[in-house]
Amino acid sequence: MPPLPVDLLRWYDRHRRTLPWRALPGQAADPYHVWLSEIMLQQTTVAAVIPYFHRFLDRFPTVADLARARQDDVMAAWAGLGYYARARNLHACAQAVDRAGGFPRDMAGLLALPGVGPYTAAAIAAIAFGHPVVPVDGNVERVTTRLFALTDPLPAARKAVALRAATLGDAAEARARPSDFAQALFDLGAGICTPKSPACALCPWQGACAGARLGIAASLPAKAPKAARPVRHGAHFHLADAAGNVLLRRRPERGLLGGMLELPGTAWRAEAWTMTEAFSHVPLAPRRGLSPWRSMGRVTHVFTHFTLHVDVYAARVDRFPNSIAEQGGLVCGEHELDGLALPSLMRKCLQLAGRADPGET
Ligand code: SF4
Repeated sequence: MPPLPVDLLRWYDRHRRTLPWRALPGQAADPYHVWLSEIMLQQTTVAAVIPYFHRFLDRFPTVADLARARQDDVMAAWAGLGYYARARNLHACAQAVDRAGGFPRDMAGLLALPGVGPYTAAAIAAIAFGHPVVPVDGNVERVTTRLFALTDPLPAARKAVALRAATLGDAAEARARPSDFAQALFDLGAGICTPKSPACALCPWQGACAGARLGIAASLPAKAPKAARPVRHGAHFHLADAAGNVLLRRRPERGLLGGMLELPGTAWRAEAWTMTEAFSHVPLAPRRGLSPWRSMGRVTHVFTHFTLHVDVYAARVDRFPNSIAEQGGLVCGEHELDGLALPSLMRKCLQLAGRADPGET
């Protein structure tokens, strides 16, 4: 017997999650809320996204507010969620939607928006506009491979899994409630068909599940072995003046953490930096009023494609020379730091540098 949407929808009507971006039963979903939450959820878990979602809505209650915000304010509100290119795309997308007078209501229009890929377009189309499409995220992928006992490993099998997932929404009951059906699949994956130990006894599709019948559900989806994550090294310098102001600079617009602020430092490379090499990148040449640099320790930060080890050094200067701004330096008050577009990596470096006063030896 194939998995019947009616069984899943009946279960969803009893067990649906209450989420801040989700419309109540019988109410229409707000496309701004759906889009914002979906972009945020690409980075992390529901629990981690909820406070960010509330903060964003407090600061930018509508897509027009977000479109008209300063990019720095958007980046600052996003800081901590990672993948900063997505924050820039989020801003660009809000501006495109604002210019067009609202979100496009069809897949082609949604796919043309900056930062909106097939999954996000399908999620908005199904949840906010009631199009009968099945958005395939990690949860839906997992449920599908288990339901049909698809054992070919991901990512090579991703397309075939997505095609199979689309068939789940073919029945009339799913086409009549596309928004609920998509969210029911998400909830099933998040709460019942979980990665390590699926609760098959509680699953509305247990009777139709080939993976459960064959006893292989927990081993699916099969995944090709991952290549080891490469390691990179860098050094960053925390320089503060007597008033506690800290020297920062802006990263180039393009590339990792593009446009975010950082402590001055070296590039990040595969080879470890010697002290001599690293110190050719200090932000101020030796001068009167500059304390000796002190090693504060190491910060390790895991990005998707590599692990970064950053050696942090700190020093104090009586006051910053006026020329520091011409060299791209930004002098920021200690109390301003919380509101700035600083990535988590830099917050870790600042925290490490703040553990001891580098002016004291
Ligand atoms: Fe997942 Fe088990 Fe339900 Fe199959 S029966 S979909 S493995 S929870």
